[in-house]
Amino acid sequence: MTAEARDFSFEFFPPRTPEGREKLRATWQALAQLKPRFFSCTYGAGGSTREGTLDTVLEIRKAGHEAAPHISCVASTKKDTLEQLERYKASGIRHLVALRGDLPSGIAASGEFRYASELVAFIREATGDWFRIEVACYPEYHPQTRTADDEIRNFRKKVDAGANAAITQYFYNADAYLRFVEECRAAGITVPIVPGVMPIGNFSQLARFSDACGAEIPRWIRLKLEGYRDDAASIRAFGLDVVTALCERLLRAGAPGLHFYTLNQAALSSEIWRRLKL
Ligand code: FAD
Repeated sequence: MTAEARDFSFEFFPPRTPEGREKLRATWQALAQLKPRFFSCTYGAGGSTREGTLDTVLEIRKAGHEAAPHISCVASTKKDTLEQLERYKASGIRHLVALRGDLPSGIAASGEFRYASELVAFIREATGDWFRIEVACYPEYHPQTRTADDEIRNFRKKVDAGANAAITQYFYNADAYLRFVEECRAAGITVPIVPGVMPIGNFSQLARFSDACGAEIPRWIRLKLEGYRDDAASIRAFGLDVVTALCERLLRAGAPGLHFYTLNQAALSSEIWRRLKL
């Protein structure tokens, strides 16, 4: 299987310092050798990383690679969002990842959008078919979703509003993804659902992310990682085995591609890629 035949992508966050910018440049340049379909760059709530997101995307695009900015709507006004869309359009960007976003805890939402489906509808209304729009979905369910059926219904609203494809939150349980896709198909959702993949490099950071976003670290993985304590080499070796096996299973089962949460580092994602022989 060639990488070109499926939707492979790498996600970054906008760097905050000149050193971070240098490091990210080396990362995307290394990953570009793998010829993914696109790169994407996250966007802070309320537009807090607006410049960093756009600069990162423009730098990657200038080198001839496809790059999509994320855009989130929580705490944003329609006027600000429209301005941002116009900037993206004027820069020749035609690909977005559209999200609600999360506010730091304790801060109340003050924007004009409640859900990502409203953002997708707004983008379509304002810009027609200019953008390819990806949205997020959650095989292990979003922490604020009340019932499993609501998860599918709310995902469907984003697709009905005009999303072209979806990227999942990361997970380590392939069955959760496969069942979720089956249920989406049964509910009439036909867009590609690309698994989000989080390579394992640092246990305490992973545990923190997972607690916040509702992604489950299965007990057997958690206990193994905890047992390695500060032994970074063993964590890395075990993490690579587990995540490569997960990706193999997903691709064999028909996943339309993989989206790697790189955390701005090339080593783990490219090693998984090499092992998958993409
Ligand atoms: P929504 O689809 O709006 O869903 C949020 C919650 O509301 C869910 O529980 C959903 O079930 C519920 N809901 C939706 N519609 C309705 C409705 N009509 N009635 C009642 N309930 C409803 N965050 C960032 O801040 N910046 C990023 O760049 C970013 N990139 C991401 C990329 C990916 C691939 C993923 C998976 C997540 C990303 N996130 C990012 C995190 C994301 O913003 C959070 O997970 C956020 O909490 C939900 O965003 P959403 O777009 O899925 O929201």
